[in-house]
Amino acid sequence: MAANLHLDADSPTADLLRDSHGRWITDLRVSITDRCNYKCVYCRTGLHGAQYAELSAQDYLRFIQSFLSVGIEKVRLTGGEPMLRRDLPQIVAGIHAMRTRAGHAPEIAVTTNGHLLEDLAQPLRDVGLSRVTISMDAVDPATFERITRVPGSFTSVLRGIEAAQRAGLDPVKINCVLLRGFNEDQVEAFAHFSREHGVVVRFIEFMPLEEDRLWTPEMVVPLTEIVERIQRLYPLTVLAPTTAGETARRYGFADGRGEIGIIAPVTQAFCGACSRVRLTSDGKIRTCLFSHREHDLAGLARSGASDEQLRQFLLQVIQTKEARHHIGEPGFLKPSRSMVHIGG
Ligand code: SAM
Repeated sequence: MAANLHLDADSPTADLLRDSHGRWITDLRVSITDRCNYKCVYCRTGLHGAQYAELSAQDYLRFIQSFLSVGIEKVRLTGGEPMLRRDLPQIVAGIHAMRTRAGHAPEIAVTTNGHLLEDLAQPLRDVGLSRVTISMDAVDPATFERITRVPGSFTSVLRGIEAAQRAGLDPVKINCVLLRGFNEDQVEAFAHFSREHGVVVRFIEFMPLEEDRLWTPEMVVPLTEIVERIQRLYPLTVLAPTTAGETARRYGFADGRGEIGIIAPVTQAFCGACSRVRLTSDGKIRTCLFSHREHDLAGLARSGASDEQLRQFLLQVIQTKEARHHIGEPGFLKPSRSMVHIGG
């Protein structure tokens, strides 16, 4: 079948791209570096991972334009730590000037550890950033800095959160990866923090994506436990997903003072609704976090491919997107790259 038949012109959602499992692929995550200024103990477990090449802003922009031309609507810049790239504002501005197939500017988000956000929140907002997600795995400063292994990091991140709010990046979301016996005691403190600081905290189940291979199922703090523990402090109500591909189960505090979310890829996998595709910092497409195969978009571009050839390549690659991951199943094979080198 010709790849471009998957752009169904008669559908009311003709501007979107559908994969071979019937999922609309609307979200692109682009890692613009795999360097990081934090050494989070559960992510950078080895501190010896290979560093992959970084491409020029111009290359990323060309590839992002190709993805938009086949139906991507949202672009999230990540890494590594994306704020280590000095040209981040130029990259955001370049994406903001583009148009989706539906004719509007794409939604642009950044996932960051927040360390450099204080100075960058407003400039990024000014050039078109829509949203920011800040990773923060503890609200207790000592625990936080034990995780990041960077003295003073807690204060920097708090300032980053405040700057993002002042800049009108709304909502500011905080992602917290929970590990059993390590930072699981932070759940209740994060519920308070969410309410006091007006941020949406999302707890994430730990996945087997660390540099060394330490993951065990026992290290995962499951969604059900997180909900039960918060309910004991604050009654919660279930909220509807905001989009079809929403990964977080959303819960509102019953008194209306904010919300929390739980991303449960291990105990309640959401692969059936996955709308994502990823581009690594060296220009390889990954159709799943757990893919064993990468597709060399940058290599194709270097060989002189035209924009139309890149577009056809994307359409074909998206048809190979895996039905689901196999975390926790016998024979599960971890991907060759860890989270910091894929782009979280
Ligand atoms: N440096 C940026 C940051 O800190 O947000 C972006 C990259 S970081 C790899 C993206 C996200 O992946 C962070 O929220 C981090 O906590 C999360 N992460 C890293 N390893 C993970 C794992 N094994 N399971 C689940 N989430 C993980």
